[in-house]
Amino acid sequence: MIVGQLVVLTGCLNSVKEIKPQGMINFTFFDTVSNIYSYAGDTKEVFTKNCEEVFEILNEYHQLFDVYHEYSGVNNLCTINKNAGGEAIVVDEKLIEFLLYTKEMYALTNGKANVMLGSVLRLWHTAREDASNNPEQAKIPEMDLLEEAIRHTSIDLLEIDKENNTVRITDPSALIDVGAIGKGYATEKVAQYLEQKGITSYVLNIGGNIRIIGTKVDGKGWNTGIKNPLNPETYAFYTNIADTSCVTSGDYERYFVADGKKYHHIIDSETLMPANYFSSITVITKDSGLADTLSTALFCMNYEDGLELVERLGNVEVLWIYSDGSQKTTDGMISIKQ
Ligand code: ADP
Ligand code: MG
Repeated sequence: MIVGQLVVLTGCLNSVKEIKPQGMINFTFFDTVSNIYSYAGDTKEVFTKNCEEVFEILNEYHQLFDVYHEYSGVNNLCTINKNAGGEAIVVDEKLIEFLLYTKEMYALTNGKANVMLGSVLRLWHTAREDASNNPEQAKIPEMDLLEEAIRHTSIDLLEIDKENNTVRITDPSALIDVGAIGKGYATEKVAQYLEQKGITSYVLNIGGNIRIIGTKVDGKGWNTGIKNPLNPETYAFYTNIADTSCVTSGDYERYFVADGKKYHHIIDSETLMPANYFSSITVITKDSGLADTLSTALFCMNYEDGLELVERLGNVEVLWIYSDGSQKTTDGMISIKQ
């Protein structure tokens, strides 16, 4: 069951006594595959119904957050981007709530998680697509284009009118990109829905965002392996998790090669180049939206600044893995033998 950057290891030590999980592996939202596992011992009917409900919630958020496609009858982030510099767009309340959340996350991360970095990210995204279509011609974006783009990335360019449910980007050259936050936020919405139904012993893997609902029926957690960014077929760290989220951002998942050098997809807004403090960041904290936000934000700041931020927040555990493979952790990130 290896998907994304993380894997929840099942069938471990006391597998004889364990309830065999039921799994459903047919979601492709947010460009990645998602899985749901039930360890609750519920019937196939109950499990299928829960999965269908999860599917509906994810599908709705997927449509609202899509920056590349529009859907009939839905004003989404693509619509908002298309109308940048133009009129305010009426959107679903769920999108308003999410966009207000992204502004909170901006403040919380001292601007490191900035959904208005879209114009810069679009240049890197295009370079990556071009490289994948034509690897021989792969090249990184021109620095003068990046420098022009970064002038259109202020979070204040995103205007949200809560009363009228409208959103407007005030600068025609600005774009929104919620890649760093959206998947985790939607995962958390699903988790909260299941929790409020009284569900427990479920494991969600939404495109690599792990969210655990409750514990196993025996009260224990799940052993989880965190991939080694230097060799993603292997694991660099094992821990045990329950009733929480575990999210990794890494330099090995999405990248392209130009002139023999790798360029990954998390961009440092100061250098306008892929951030190069670490090879991966793993965040464990209950709220999956926060875990997703922090995994990207911590990737873009040094260890000292990152540690200060997570200590200030509390209840957040982090594993920092450097490009030479060395590791740092917060005190509560417990390593287990596997
Ligand atoms: P993944 O999407 O691979 O799970 P992340 O959660 O770290 O990984 O999100 C990476 C995505 O976030 C990028 O694909 C891009 O859309 C967006 N992004 C990249 N760099 C930044 C940044 N500095 N601030 C905000 N968003 C970013
Ligand atoms: Mg993230």
